Amino acid sequence: MEIVTWNINGIRTFGGGIKNALDSLGADIICVQETKVTRDLLDERTAVVEGYNSYFSYSRGRSGYSGVATYCKDSATPFAAEEGLTGLLTNHEGAVGCYGDHTEFSSEELQLLDSEGRAVITQHRIMCQDKEQTVTVINVYCPRADPEKPERKQFKLQFYKLLQSRAESVLKDGSHVIVLGDVNTSHRPIDHCDPSDNDDFSENPGRKWLNGFLHSGREEEDDDDDEPDEESEVTDTIHSGIFVDTFRFFHPTRTNAFTCWSTLTGARQTNYGTRIDYILADCQLAKEQFVAADIMPEVEGSDHCPVWGKLSCSLLPSSKAPPLCTRYLPQFAGKQQKLSRFLVKVDQKSVQSEQKEVLPASQEEEERRENLNPHGAGNVPGKKRLLTSHSVVPKGKKPKTGNTSSKPQGSLLSFFKPKQANVGQCEKETGLDEDASSHSSQKALSAGEMSSVTDTGNRDTELVLDGSSQLCSGSTTAETDKRVKTKHLSSQSAVGHSEAKKGASLVFWKSVLHGPPPPPSCKVHGEPCVLRTVKKEGPNMGKQFFVCARPQGHASNPEARCNFFAWVDKGK
Ligand code: ZN
Repeated sequence: MEIVTWNINGIRTFGGGIKNALDSLGADIICVQETKVTRDLLDERTAVVEGYNSYFSYSRGRSGYSGVATYCKDSATPFAAEEGLTGLLTNHEGAVGCYGDHTEFSSEELQLLDSEGRAVITQHRIMCQDKEQTVTVINVYCPRADPEKPERKQFKLQFYKLLQSRAESVLKDGSHVIVLGDVNTSHRPIDHCDPSDNDDFSENPGRKWLNGFLHSGREEEDDDDDEPDEESEVTDTIHSGIFVDTFRFFHPTRTNAFTCWSTLTGARQTNYGTRIDYILADCQLAKEQFVAADIMPEVEGSDHCPVWGKLSCSLLPSSKAPPLCTRYLPQFAGKQQKLSRFLVKVDQKSVQSEQKEVLPASQEEEERRENLNPHGAGNVPGKKRLLTSHSVVPKGKKPKTGNTSSKPQGSLLSFFKPKQANVGQCEKETGLDEDASSHSSQKALSAGEMSSVTDTGNRDTELVLDGSSQLCSGSTTAETDKRVKTKHLSSQSAVGHSEAKKGASLVFWKSVLHGPPPPPSCKVHGEPCVLRTVKKEGPNMGKQFFVCARPQGHASNPEARCNFFAWVDKGK
């Protein structure tokens, strides 16, 4: 039995070929997070995949936000499946049960905790050494604590407590339990590219919770000589839980093993990341059935990579999928039997553009977008974020350096093309870690400003200088693209309403009429900088600055971004 978890950062990561993508991951049970699929957006292509049965959890609040899904091979069909952790989202027909103790939550809290589409539970029969048992797979997308939203810290911890209560309750009932997904907390310093950049690393409440949830998995093995004694003692004293981090179980001392990197800063190139995606199994299952577990950093397409685990037990499929299965949804029921549905050639182009219209690029962007743009125009995903129709692409060649991949401009018209390459680089900066907005290389901005600059809304107006060429798309949203296209070169209409846009337009016209001003070179590498714009509301909003164009990395890495920073001189 093989199992995979992957935060796919939008189901579009799978492109048009979900079946190919699932097949290439080669697992019996594939748990994905941050699908950004809500019930209104779920299409048949996503819901009904030949050879698989799927189970979705959707955000109730807003469209295109959060969401998890579990795809099971037909040979791994569960006998029970349920959305959410609380039991409030199920009618209990074919549900998993064992809800645990909810006395410390108010009913309102419980409802909120299950309202964002963050958990799907499936229950499977397995054969372990000729003995039939059950394993319950809890697929979770734990909340991220946005430093700018203090109330989310509490929400995140409440979610952890609820998750623990449910997992332990199911385990107590006699089923094995696997909790897997994007937990949004790096556990130990070894799981973080720069733990010293976080004050009180070990004092982080999420880490404290993980310590209480996890067992070292090794302390009972007296004859274990692989691990230094020092390490054993440390982990033994702080780990009191009954779940095992299966990756660390097999690789207790491996360093630089990360599953999430900031796409904006190109940190994947320097492997400046965190390990926040886990497959956690109850102690007995981990020790008796798991034979391997590892990360798959070579698989691109999302700002996270997949994580897999292999168990020696085999799955016993249920003959009938439980009621939560998406193929029973009224809009798909009956259709999946028609073979013709699978043979219809889908126009890749129209499918992708359709997705671009409806799916926002990230949850944080969606949050920002809600504030900035009530119409919520869809973003244009960077090509690099898409898996091809051949699905998962092993990293054959190094991705181009972020923010510098623009081509020299051949004609005026190309100025009106959205800077797509840039969009792909602008995903969740703070996805690096739950609470870490560590931008130590750019002290000229406050951490809050910087995270805002890099975090979200800047995709719309960010300008990029690339050596001899300058790209000045006022916006990368479809809306603005259309506006620019339809109004052509009318100088009046090209000038945006906001100060920031006005600035962008001025730079634009300067570059058209006089050629772009050369960007400064960073001091360490002597390379042309990139131009960025502060998007956070406040005294610096709309101001532009230059930073080193290289990907973010550890301060000691000479290949990574240096600390060059300069405001754009407005006098010019
Ligand atoms: Zn530099």
